[in-house]
Amino acid sequence: MFQAFLIKYGEIGIKGKNRHLFEDALIHQIKYALKPVEGEFLITKEQGRVYIEAVGPYDYEEALEHLQCVFGIVGICPVVLVEDEGLDKLAADVISYLDSRYSNKNQTFKVHTRRARKSYPLSSMEVNAILGERILEAFPEMKVDVHNPDIMVNVEIRGKINIYSDIIPGPGGMPVGTNGKGMLLLSGGIDSPVAGYMIAKRGVKIDAVYFHAPPYTSERAKQKVVDLAKIVARFSGPIYLKVVNFTDIQMYIYEKCPHEELTIIMRRYMMRIAEHFAEETNSLGLITGESIGQVASQTMQSLAATDEVCRFPVYRPLIGFDKQEIIALSEKIGTYETSILPYEDCCTIFVAKHPVTKPSLKVIRRSEQRLRENIEEMVKTAVETAETIVVEADMS
Ligand code: ATP
Ligand code: MG
Repeated sequence: MFQAFLIKYGEIGIKGKNRHLFEDALIHQIKYALKPVEGEFLITKEQGRVYIEAVGPYDYEEALEHLQCVFGIVGICPVVLVEDEGLDKLAADVISYLDSRYSNKNQTFKVHTRRARKSYPLSSMEVNAILGERILEAFPEMKVDVHNPDIMVNVEIRGKINIYSDIIPGPGGMPVGTNGKGMLLLSGGIDSPVAGYMIAKRGVKIDAVYFHAPPYTSERAKQKVVDLAKIVARFSGPIYLKVVNFTDIQMYIYEKCPHEELTIIMRRYMMRIAEHFAEETNSLGLITGESIGQVASQTMQSLAATDEVCRFPVYRPLIGFDKQEIIALSEKIGTYETSILPYEDCCTIFVAKHPVTKPSLKVIRRSEQRLRENIEEMVKTAVETAETIVVEADMS
């Protein structure tokens, strides 16, 4: 039924001189999102809106589903295109649109006409009045309500005439690529994929790093992280995922340091390594799925101990969220089912029975001193041997 989509965007409309950059980023992301969709699309921008026209047949449901993953889109209006063949024909087209779109005619409406083509012989007001009258004649149950109509019948006169009345919500946020890049510490858990989603929603492009500890963590645990990245990539675009072999470092910490400090010290080395990649790839910050008090390593004291080794800002978008709220978000974005698969990531293998909840920086630094003989070399090796996987979106 629909041959085009009119895309409405919010925040990016107010960005003054930067506006065209935002629009270009939005179009870039829309193109990426529509690439796997059956059909061919022509994407243009005009007068504060982006316009997607299908060239020939396409899969409507699939296109819509993909567009609903593009940050920056506030509303998606499916549009019927008709040729301009005079007012009688237009009235007939609008009536047939309403007839097929709304089985229940017992609704109020308002016609809203815009003339992008100013040479059109009638004014917008005149078109409104005439179409309104014809609609009332065709469907006597319908009533006009100019203040709060159930159905806003939009008629835009361009080369062709556009008819639409639905605004399907988009995900909001800002187009990815408009706010720099961040390095996500991505594990196989529930939280970090959601954290990546939230930061990407603010227009940040994301790369990711996963710390893998074979043979303590399986190939399937790694595959699970890749699968999670594929889901996040629906929204963020392709993700460069670094997979770091963390086994030796983890074992070394386990051997040399008090076990109750293991998680904190491990987390500090994860941050150091992540920061190395962030620097190398021009990321502007680290991103984690931590929230205050969720586990021992996420108390205020533990987070302070983690941050102490970071020169980059650490973004923790879930910091004030309860687990239930995070779970609800992960269900919404589609990562939950994968996150709860049982394969353990490296943190769950070495956890102490009674980890410190209020680590003292002095104590942690002293414990790390016990690693000084080999740790630099080990970090260097971990960085150098990291595998890079380019993860593309998987919509299935
Ligand atoms: P998640 O559900 O995201 O795994 P969690 O509640 O299990 O979080 P932790 O395991 O303590 O919490 O991890 C806190 C954060 O540290 C994670 O959100 C993630 O950003 C990072 N992290 C933990 N383990 C790894 C790992 N193996 N690789 C990469 N990042 C990790
Ligand atoms: Mg975890």
